[in-house]
Amino acid sequence: MTTQVETALRGPEAFAMARKALIDMEAAGVWPTPLNFELWLHYIGDPEGPLGKEMSRLLASSDPFTEGTSEMLAAEYLPRGRLSDEIRDVGAVLNRELSSMSDAIAHAKKSQAAYGVTLADASASIEKVAQPEDLREVVSGLSDATTRIQKENSALESRLDASTKEVARLREHLEQVRRDAMTDALTNLANRKAFDEELLRACEVADANKSTVCLAVLDIDHFKRFNDTWGHQTGDQVLRYVASVIGRVAKSPRVAARYGGEEFAIIFANESTAMVEVALNRIRQEIGARSLRRRSTNDDLGAVTISAGLAQRHPGESGSSLLDRADGALYVSKRNGRNLVTNAENVAEAA
Ligand code: C2E
Repeated sequence: MTTQVETALRGPEAFAMARKALIDMEAAGVWPTPLNFELWLHYIGDPEGPLGKEMSRLLASSDPFTEGTSEMLAAEYLPRGRLSDEIRDVGAVLNRELSSMSDAIAHAKKSQAAYGVTLADASASIEKVAQPEDLREVVSGLSDATTRIQKENSALESRLDASTKEVARLREHLEQVRRDAMTDALTNLANRKAFDEELLRACEVADANKSTVCLAVLDIDHFKRFNDTWGHQTGDQVLRYVASVIGRVAKSPRVAARYGGEEFAIIFANESTAMVEVALNRIRQEIGARSLRRRSTNDDLGAVTISAGLAQRHPGESGSSLLDRADGALYVSKRNGRNLVTNAENVAEAA
């Protein structure tokens, strides 16, 4: 949570803010889940901030405010705070681990130095040995010192082993946090942030290797009507269904993402537009072939269809220009009756 909201929640207006959040959520017809509560606290705490403005816009529109909408808003506007909290926690553990390791190493160094002194003393004493008892005393002193240093070395070894394991665990945890920050929670596809990064990377690789990138944008037809008729929970299931088909067809090295509410996008590297069209038509046909059922009532929901647009990148073209052209092709699919795939190249030719 931002410092501004956190401070307000410890101030005199804290309870009024929390009450208002609940009342406003009820008025907007959303459940008071922890995520929605967090979003509304931000909204109330900073209505003119980027999240506040986007929420005002969404609430003023007739679009439904679904669990998916909340997830999208959180991914877009809240992740940094969450991510940095997690990273801070991991960082604190890592710091403790490192300082305890360096204490152990410093202690071991001191012990080694002391052992060196003991050896030097012993060697000096041996020079002066006159009686066998004196020799026994020197050897016994050396043996004690060696046992001590062996024990300390073995303790240090165990400590280093434990630290190595802890660092590996932290690394795995950080990797999970990074994956979560890049994943759309509803559909498990990449989120917009991850997609934007991948697109940038794909463009750089294409420029360096003189290779191709194709971008496809897919949108569920009449999704709003579907949501209004069957409710948001069923709408979310439809998003999951469409995403599951897209994910199956657009497996790595293709990159599939949920780009916005009911909009998805796929990056195809080094594939001809003909291959991309085949893949998109497969997705389109597979999605449209199944009649869905409403889980709560078993009502027949019928089939959903998707429209798609694709564009092949021109050498040196930016990701956003490529996205605009793919969007333009998607628009043509919608205009020509939906449940279609359109190649931007044909749009340009027709224009
Ligand atoms: P989910 O409900 O978590 O289901 C995950 C997967 O479990 C499904 O992947 C499917 O392979 C299997 N599965 C779940 N329920 C059934 C079932 O009643 N019969 C059969 N044969 N398999 C089942 P799939 O098909 O890719 O669907 C992914 C997600 O799409 C589902 O997640 C659900 O959220 C949504 N979905 C798919 N079909 C329908 C449907 O007919 N109605 C609704 N409301 N949602 C659906």
